[in-house]
Amino acid sequence: GYLITIVICAISILHYLGINNLNDYSLLGFFIIILLNAFILAMNQSKAYKKIDNLSKDKEECLLTQKLMEATFLLNSTLNLDEVLDKLLNFLKQLVPYDSASFFMEENNQFNIMAGSGFKNIDDIHKIHINKKDDKLFKEIYETNTILLVSNVKEDPRFTHYMSQTNIESWMGIPIIFKNKIIGILTLDSLQKNIYTKNHCDIALSFSHHAGTAIANAKLHGKTKKLACIDPLTNLYNRRSFFELANISFDKAKLSLQPISSIMIDIDDFKKINDCLGHHTGDLVLKRLSKVCLENLNKNHILGRFGGEEFIILLPGTPFKEAEIIGENLRSAIENNPLIIRKSDSIRITSSLGVASLTPTVQDLDYLCIAADKAMYRAKSLGKNKVISINLDSKSSLYSAE
Ligand code: GH3
Ligand code: MG
Ligand code: MG
Repeated sequence: GYLITIVICAISILHYLGINNLNDYSLLGFFIIILLNAFILAMNQSKAYKKIDNLSKDKEECLLTQKLMEATFLLNSTLNLDEVLDKLLNFLKQLVPYDSASFFMEENNQFNIMAGSGFKNIDDIHKIHINKKDDKLFKEIYETNTILLVSNVKEDPRFTHYMSQTNIESWMGIPIIFKNKIIGILTLDSLQKNIYTKNHCDIALSFSHHAGTAIANAKLHGKTKKLACIDPLTNLYNRRSFFELANISFDKAKLSLQPISSIMIDIDDFKKINDCLGHHTGDLVLKRLSKVCLENLNKNHILGRFGGEEFIILLPGTPFKEAEIIGENLRSAIENNPLIIRKSDSIRITSSLGVASLTPTVQDLDYLCIAADKAMYRAKSLGKNKVISINLDSKSSLYSAE
């Protein structure tokens, strides 16, 4: 451009000096130089825009990595599975938009819903169980091991049998993978058509890998905790976890001056059952009794296996008279629910129960349980299959025989 300008200027100077008879091309020269400058400016500007574009893409990636790190930190901040799932659904909303979302956990070829967000009635969704082989969407995710995207739900045949229950337009199914195995499926629903892009899929996929580890850890922790707290034969609280829970309830009763009762149950002549019918049948008797007790208690009552063939119950907020009735109901329920071993053969189970009640002020839980135990031994000595109660609040600490 400059060369052209210099040539044109030279021609023009020569023209004004009258040395040559060429025309004055100076205006044309300036026009060309302006045109070329504009072209160069545009080129530089375009380069700058490209750079900005790349930088903002880098920034986006950087932000996403930061978000994913935040998610990993958040999901690993607790080992409680429900909390992990709640955090997961809430955090994911910052990365991928949804109107409602659910998390299904894989258990024995079935997907059970474990958490949900954005649903009007959260209790209803907890009843949903999906069979891996029956549901086309879940089956496809399971077979392909990757995200499944449905951009127009209303026109997708795989949604035919959900159509009456849903008004969603877009759907995304994300496999949650741990050690190359699908441990759950996360589903996102949107009321907008075609809302999910490839970018959303990439984000969800990265997120799912972080979530997989956190969920697997929480699940394992839950299992370990269960093993440490639950008696494997009867599925009741073991002695240690019973007393952990019972102490909390006892302290609450003390603070609020609420009555509290305890019942100790011991199976009568259990050794005979073991000796005559074998330990396996003895185990079945223990299971049967646990089930009968659970059926006759409510969710506020805490039932634990104290040891061997002895069971302990804490009845928070239950005064003496009410506890006596519960004890008698349990005794008769145990007696009236024999263990059926063959069509015509059944084992009668009877038990001796000790009930103790008090409104705690200075006492501790042991004081209540020792009293219930004493009452139970008294029931044994009075001929078994009985309930003996002690009201520790009454000054004379009466034993009342049923
Ligand atoms: P009582 O009427 O005086 O209570 O007599 P009992 O035979 O019920 O009580 P005893 O203490 O003499 O025997 C309890 C038996 O319970 C002894 C023990 O082998 C058995 N036992 C303890 N734990 C288990 C268990 O988990 N399974 C089975 N099958 N037996 C158990
Ligand atoms: Mg015993
Ligand atoms: Mg016994």
